[in-house]
Amino acid sequence: MSLPQQLTIAGFIFIIALVGIASWYGYLRLTTLSEQITQLDTKLDIQIASTTASLQNNLAEATSSLGNAFQQENLNVQAQLGGVRNQVGSITGVVTDLQKLSKTDPELLAKYSKVFFLSDTYAPARLVEIPSAYAYSETKQLQIIPEVLPYVLRMIEQAKAGGVALYVDSAYRSFASQKSLKGQYSVVYGTGTANQFSADQGYSEHQLGTTADFITTGTGGALAGFDATPAYAWMVANAYHYGFVLSYPKDNGYYIFEPWHWRFVGVKLATDLHTAGTYFYTMDQRAIDTYLISLFD
Ligand SMILES: [Zn+2]
Repeated sequence: MSLPQQLTIAGFIFIIALVGIASWYGYLRLTTLSEQITQLDTKLDIQIASTTASLQNNLAEATSSLGNAFQQENLNVQAQLGGVRNQVGSITGVVTDLQKLSKTDPELLAKYSKVFFLSDTYAPARLVEIPSAYAYSETKQLQIIPEVLPYVLRMIEQAKAGGVALYVDSAYRSFASQKSLKGQYSVVYGTGTANQFSADQGYSEHQLGTTADFITTGTGGALAGFDATPAYAWMVANAYHYGFVLSYPKDNGYYIFEPWHWRFVGVKLATDLHTAGTYFYTMDQRAIDTYLISLFD
């Protein structure tokens, strides 16, 4: 083999070796790049997964706080609505109370009997007849205000159901009829004695149309002695259920003991007086006036 030939072969081998090295290097480089790409892919996957999880968390938190905000706002609105309803309710209540008060005659719970005076022009707005079956005398015309009539009738019926005979002997008296009655008493008994049991005109509770004298059988038509009858005992125990109170108990500062004379003051006040064991005329007028609103309840 000639030298040029040898050189050519050596050159060829060298080139082959060079290409081989270059290829090997290229292969190595390619493998590294591929590994790097795989690593990047993994990193990217992890990052995407983490970002997605974080976004999902944020979304859940936002949804939750939005929900809470809505719920809170809803509660606020409901509370405000409730407040408005309460206000409307209390305004309605006040209006109803005022309407009731405007229709209730304040004289009906005022103290008379030498304390206050009803003028000769005072008369109840309306009066109704007490049916004769409830009156002691079938010929005597008895009147009372319409709001009180059902209480009187119920009371007499309940007494009767309990075996107690109870009748109305006297009810409404006008200023003029009280004047005439007092005049008659004064002639018969003398003014001093008459003043002990009979009111002057204008001071009688009978002028209010809410007050009645009650009587029972067995006393010969007399009011005196009523306190010794079962009818009186029944009234002491039960009359407050029907809004009636005894105006002049024993040792009162106004008149003699009048066991027959009962005034309608409403069930609430009558019950409170009964429970406290006290009497209408011992109460302060301002305290009495607070019951005006519940007079016919
Ligand atoms: Zn009387």
